[in-house]
Amino acid sequence: MTAGYDAVVIGAGPAGSTSARGLARRGLRVLLVDRAHFPRPKVCGCCLNPRALATLARIGLGSLAGRLGAVPLTGLELATGRRRATLHHALGVALSRDALDAALVDEAVAAGAEFQPGASATLATGGVRLRTGDESREVGARFVVSATGLGDGLFPADDRARPSPRSKLGAGTILDAAPDGYAPGRVFMACGAGGYVGLVALEDGRLDVAAALDPAAVREAGGPGALASAILAGTRLPGAPGLAEARWRGTPALWRSPGRVVEGGVFRVGDSAGYVEPFTGEGMAWALAGGEALAATLADDPDPARRWAREHRRIVRDRQLACRAVARVLRSPGMTRALVAALGRRPGLARPLLWAMHRE
Ligand SMILES: Cc1cc2nc3c(=O)[nH]c(=O)nc-3n(C[C@H](O)[C@H](O)[C@H](O)COP(=O)(O)OP(=O)(O)OC[C@H]3O[C@@H](n4cnc5c(N)ncnc54)[C@H](O)[C@@H]3O)c2cc1C
Repeated sequence: MTAGYDAVVIGAGPAGSTSARGLARRGLRVLLVDRAHFPRPKVCGCCLNPRALATLARIGLGSLAGRLGAVPLTGLELATGRRRATLHHALGVALSRDALDAALVDEAVAAGAEFQPGASATLATGGVRLRTGDESREVGARFVVSATGLGDGLFPADDRARPSPRSKLGAGTILDAAPDGYAPGRVFMACGAGGYVGLVALEDGRLDVAAALDPAAVREAGGPGALASAILAGTRLPGAPGLAEARWRGTPALWRSPGRVVEGGVFRVGDSAGYVEPFTGEGMAWALAGGEALAATLADDPDPARRWAREHRRIVRDRQLACRAVARVLRSPGMTRALVAALGRRPGLARPLLWAMHRE
């Protein structure tokens, strides 16, 4: 086993890169690893909400999104069946995950973290085993951080980590150009019986499409593209030619009960620490705030396991309640129709929910 790291961070999404950067800035020797090479694609609605932007500003990366050309978001078009609601509200920015995640890795490296892409990690006694092609090596570390997103393969599946049978699947694609009607600066959301589809124009004119879909409906429709097209066609939002034929990527189930945030001495952060359906677009805010807090916890606290459980509850778990409530409403087509109708008549009704989600 190669010794010598204070921390090995597995996974270089927003949670992992932010943790690695925070630890390196506090003087710890950090190895950040990811099985992917960057820039890499990620199924995501690509909306960084105001809380995510505030966290970036707090850790000294306030100019990052603007530097990458992120598109400010000024509103949301919500549609189901014949009903449509238009909300005018500052929702943050749209930014492609290939650009954002690669930039956050660069920031971690600039702060002093070592980065190893293309390495798949598993847990080993006292550290992690890294597999790169045919080669394998073990590295020792005082702290191991799991920032592996959904479906990491690090821990044996148990009842807490097992997805609920009602879980939706995530799926996404990016169209080369935003079709007519999908103006930059607005988020479009189509809801139907088989799930919901979010569409947003990115900084380079492409259209990001991300969906949470019922697995049974996906099978029945013949694939995520066919189902997403059908959901969109069932609303009054503009059509998106090529959506059904595009190359879609999938995710594991999107809803799992929160497990322990410290497991077998491994500290979990971001989606790895628990996940809620993404309709309200907060996953990256939780990942960034979690990474920031975990770095401070590991670097400064003599009893980091106890403090991380407390901190994670405060900054992430308690705040997931609003998101879980919205996800529950969306399970019922009748309640979804009633919600969109109510917001269509009185858009201001969304304000308390948006405040609860975006407050720091
Ligand atoms: C359909 C959909 C729409 C969404 N829309 C939004 C949105 O608009 N706004 C928002 O804020 N959030 C959204 N989210 C949620 C958001 O994508 C996640 O919450 C966020 O990416 C979590 O970041 P993370 O760093 O925890 O994990 P990830 O970004 O998933 O990164 C995990 C990394 O770990 C690596 N990895 C995994 N296992 C290993 C291993 N064993 N060894 C080495 N590397 C490994 C992976 O390659 C990956 O790069 C959406 C999610 C979905 C599915």
